[in-house]
Amino acid sequence: MIDIRIEKTTAPKAKPDSSTLGFGKIFTDHMFIMDYSADKGWYDARIVPFENISLHPASTVLHYGSEIFEGLKAYRRKDGKVQLFRPIENIRRMNNSAERLCLPQIPEEDAMKILETFVSVEQDWTPSAEGTSLYLRPFMFGNDETLGVHAVHNAKFVIIASPVGSYYKEGINPVKIMIESEDVRAVRGGTGYAKCGGNYAASNRAGEKAEKQGYSQVLWLDGVERKYIEEVGAMNVMFKIGDEIVTPMLSGSILPGITRKSCIEVLKGEGYTVSERLLSIDELGEALHNGTLKEAWGCGTAAVVSPIGELLYKGEKFVINNGEIGEVTQSLYDTLTGIQWGKIEDTFGWTYEIK
Ligand SMILES: *Cc1c(COP(=O)(O)O)cnc(C)c1O
Repeated sequence: MIDIRIEKTTAPKAKPDSSTLGFGKIFTDHMFIMDYSADKGWYDARIVPFENISLHPASTVLHYGSEIFEGLKAYRRKDGKVQLFRPIENIRRMNNSAERLCLPQIPEEDAMKILETFVSVEQDWTPSAEGTSLYLRPFMFGNDETLGVHAVHNAKFVIIASPVGSYYKEGINPVKIMIESEDVRAVRGGTGYAKCGGNYAASNRAGEKAEKQGYSQVLWLDGVERKYIEEVGAMNVMFKIGDEIVTPMLSGSILPGITRKSCIEVLKGEGYTVSERLLSIDELGEALHNGTLKEAWGCGTAAVVSPIGELLYKGEKFVINNGEIGEVTQSLYDTLTGIQWGKIEDTFGWTYEIK
């Protein structure tokens, strides 16, 4: 089992006021960091005061984008305890991303111990106001000090943490989303299923375009036919068409979201028919016009469940459920946030208490 050295800060920062928290702007007192080399494997696992990372100018990540990340939250329960939500899923996904990018994997038990120890050291930073949490950002990057292009021989794995505010400050407002018909995010065989920084770098252009037109995010279509629904910027998507819940299947170009997986399991448990299948923009348009498109929502760690009130496709507006949150969306939101913040019983065994 991995050994973690802990060096506490001598200058702890003041904790922020819970009501003024945004997303990812304030960081805690410490960070976890460990190094990898092909000869030694992972070494020098340490929790140290939060500080800048110094890199060689030829470091792989700066030139060839060898970077992956994860995102999960620590939640403060009413009884004061702090818990994680399905952390093992994040660890497994990170190792899958690492495999795709030729970065080193971390044995699951070691990764779990690292996460648990780090959150335990920083747990006082978990805010307690409604909807707030401590966002955890594990990331890994290639750090060879040479411009030669090859698989990574040196890497760093880091975890930073940021207390974040409630995603919904004035109740759950449905979002307006633009369907992108030119740029594509990923193709089968590419890195769509890996949580890597490069996927984000390539999607910024469409994001800017959407924002200029008053839309908050982009819904991506498949990269080959630009015809099938894939996912939103940092969320997977689901639709209620008639009595069926439809979500794009994991074909390799879509990020396998843990919130997506959890929604599917909750919905199936409630007796819904959930289909993971191809869903074309034409089918969606038809469902809208014949009145069977009842609800649409995005799902991801940040917002948990985010109702979609309007989609824009090539100038045509698809208004869904009068731009209001639907019943299934609301119920999913209540169930998932209830489990995450420990307000309702976790019958799935998804939560992980920090000691
Ligand atoms: C992280 C992410 C998601 C959501 O995954 P969760 O595990 O539910 O947070 C969806 N799409 C993309 C592109 C992502 O990076």
